[in-house]
Parts: sequence; C-alpha cells; structure tokens
Amino acid sequence: MNFQRYNQSTVEKEKITARLAVWPPPAFNVMAKPRGAICNLECAYCYYLKKASMYPKSDFRMSAEVLENFTRQYIQSQRVPQVTFVWQGGEPTLMGLDFFKQAMGFQRKYAGPGMRVENALQTNGTTLDDDWCAFFKENNFLIGISMDGPAHLHNFMRRDKGGAGTFEKVMAGLALLKKHHVAFNILASVHAANMDHPLDVYRFLRDEVGTEFIQFIPIVERANKKGEQRGNIITHRSVNGKQYGEFLIGIFDEWVRYDVGKVYVQIFDAALAKWMGQTGGLCIFAETCGTALVIEHNGDLFSCDHYVEPRYRLGNISRAGMADLFGSHKQHKFGLNKKDSLPRYCLNCEVLFACNGGCPKDRVKHTPDGEFGLNYLCEGYRAFFNHIDPAMRVMRDLIHQQQPPAKIMDLIAAPGSILQTDGLPVPAGESHSKNPSVD
Ligand code: SF4
Ligand code: SF4
Repeated sequence: MNFQRYNQSTVEKEKITARLAVWPPPAFNVMAKPRGAICNLECAYCYYLKKASMYPKSDFRMSAEVLENFTRQYIQSQRVPQVTFVWQGGEPTLMGLDFFKQAMGFQRKYAGPGMRVENALQTNGTTLDDDWCAFFKENNFLIGISMDGPAHLHNFMRRDKGGAGTFEKVMAGLALLKKHHVAFNILASVHAANMDHPLDVYRFLRDEVGTEFIQFIPIVERANKKGEQRGNIITHRSVNGKQYGEFLIGIFDEWVRYDVGKVYVQIFDAALAKWMGQTGGLCIFAETCGTALVIEHNGDLFSCDHYVEPRYRLGNISRAGMADLFGSHKQHKFGLNKKDSLPRYCLNCEVLFACNGGCPKDRVKHTPDGEFGLNYLCEGYRAFFNHIDPAMRVMRDLIHQQQPPAKIMDLIAAPGSILQTDGLPVPAGESHSKNPSVD
C-alpha cells in the first residue's frame, strides 16, 4: 500500500461504487483455514481456538481434494483478473511446507493467462525456519506477523500452551524473514494490557522491528464458551472505546509529524481514503460487508472470519458452487445488515462517512437514547476521526494539488503552523462536516 493508490479519478471511483451496488460484486475474498482452529500457541484473547468445538471428530487438515476444489473454484469465481489467497488459522504453517507447495501447483494449474494470483499468510511467527522463508520469498508471499509490542506487552497475552511468552521466538522468526527478504507486515492487537502504551508499541514496531506496514486490531471479545457473537458481556481482556481512541490518537500524532509516507498504518491509510471520498478497503469501516468469507479445512464456507459459527455457514464447496454460495441471498443479507442495523445515533453522527458504525460484531451497546446496536468502540472511533479531521483535510488537499501527502510534516514543523499544537485543531475557515470529500 502507498498513497499513490488514492490518485484515482472521480470517474473510476464512480464506476467502482456502481459495481459494488450490484450483488454479487465481481470479486470476493476468501480466507482459508487449512488447519482449522489448531495452533501451537494459546493466546489469551484468541477468537478462533474455541472454533475447534464445531468439528469434534476432525483431524483439522485440509485434504488435497478440498484444496484443489477450493483453488479451482476461487480462481474461476472471480470476474476480475486478480485473486489473493489469504492463509490463516489457527496457525497455517502447522500444515507443513508440502501442503503449500501443493497449493502453488494447483494455483498454477487453474490460473489462466492474465490472472494474477497473490498469496498472503498470517502467522504467529514461532514456527518459521530457513525453508519456510525461502519458500515465501520464492513464491512472493506477503507475511503477516502477530506481535503486540515490546516483550512485556507482547508476552502478556501471546503465550504458548505451557504459558511461556513467545516474544523471543517471534523476533527470531522476523529475523529469518528479513534475512530472506520476505515482505512482511505486523498485525498488533490492542487490548487491556497494551492499550495505555501507544507510543511504546508504535516506536517498538517502527524502530526495533523495522516494519513499514502496521495493522492495529482492537480486541473486543464477547464472553461465551463457543467464541460466538452472542451476549453483550465483554471480557476484561478487551480494549475499551475510550482507550482505543486515545491509543490511535497517540500514534497518529507521532505518525503525522514524522512518518507519513514512510510507515503505513492501515487505519490511517483507510481514513485518508475516506476523506478522499473513496471506500478505503477496510471492511470494518465499509458501508456494507459480505465480500470477505472464510473457508474451513473441510470446505465449509462462512460469511466472515468473525462469524464462523453454524448460523453463518453458507454451505460446503464440495456440494455447492462457491460463486453461488457467495452470491446467495443469505450472504447478501449478511452484508446489508451492517448498514440496515445502524442505530439512529450513528445515522446522525458527523463521522459516519468514515466509521459506518464499525464492525457489527462489536455492536453490543445501547445509544444514549436507549437504542441497541451501538459499537462498543464508538467513543474511541468518534474521538479519533474528529481528531484527525484537520490533518486529513490537509493531506486530501495536497493530493488534489498533485503533491505528496508527506508534505504535511513540513507544514506542521513550520514556525507558527496552525497544525503545530497537540490536538491538531481545525484550520481557520474550515469546520467539520459530514462529507469532507466534497467541501
Ligand atoms: S462482520 Fe465485521 S469483520 Fe466481518 S466483514 Fe463485516 S465488518 Fe468486516
Ligand atoms: S463514531 Fe460512533 S456514532 Fe459515529 S458512526 Fe461510529 S459508532 Fe456510530
């Protein structure tokens, strides 16, 4: 990702918007779980370990037959010349290298001329060795490493089955990725243990890990035995809305002064796209969802990674076509529900254009006027989006003037800059509006 991708003409934007209004859209994403919920670690907040109970007699290994069927259908279902295979878990590397070599063979077999196939794999980083990293490099994988900050913050939640912290092993995995020049990014969860330390986390990832791409994922975990999206009690491990907002703001204020164009933080990237009047590419802030599915090890297809539970099973790809399951009324309804279930409080919110009420899985609160369905992180989202508004407008205007958004760092550093103080106030003559892309 880089900011160049926001230099899209209005006409192109309108075409994309028009296409997305038609169901099913021409492309969709499927995250594959070849080893199901099986993992070598037992991170305290993991939302997926409990999913093993859905398949009590399974060996949790995607067979060659399911892999080939998945690969063929996934490639052939796309009506665009590009497809990305996203491997996740559990821990996907527990399938072993031969499984992924076989996957590459099937991809070559079914990708027609002109079809670009990409692979991304999310791992806890503790199982990597030279063979894995050489394979990733050779096959151009993008690797996501889960890391929550420096050792004392990372080890608080990310532990192995014996309860030992995993920091050193993850750092060793990162060193191997760097040695083999494998492209990687960091996925950092934000939770009760690290939410008060935004700069410790950010500076560690930027300076010690040396990553240029960071995703922050808020942990909002409902307390129930099956890990389902039921009930409204949130665990003590979760981040709270206020702290999540302060966490993001703390990092944004550092990033916008020193790191624009050097470090790509997914939520900042997505926000700038929103201020440009574009969709942003982050499902939690999209108006509707439904285009990011999950395939379990046995071929079961589900509506979303956070809804792998019987109610949201679309079917199995050995008995129904993947494109038909994706295009089904059930999945369409799942996607639309995000917009249709918004409380009035969100509909009247000044940052609705950027937030869209956040992910439905986190909508467990009542609004101040008593309507159910407000996002648990609302307070933080609202504070964050309002806080970044002045800087986003400046970067939006720079892009419109064909200038790099990184120039904002010079503007902030200039003596007397109206953007210089903490809090980045609204520049004179501007006011927060509901749609800054058209003012
Ligand atoms: S339910 Fe949440 S995580 Fe799933 S696609 Fe929708 S916004 Fe994204
Ligand atoms: S900030 Fe809060 S009120 Fe505004 S759209 Fe997001 S969840 Fe709704």
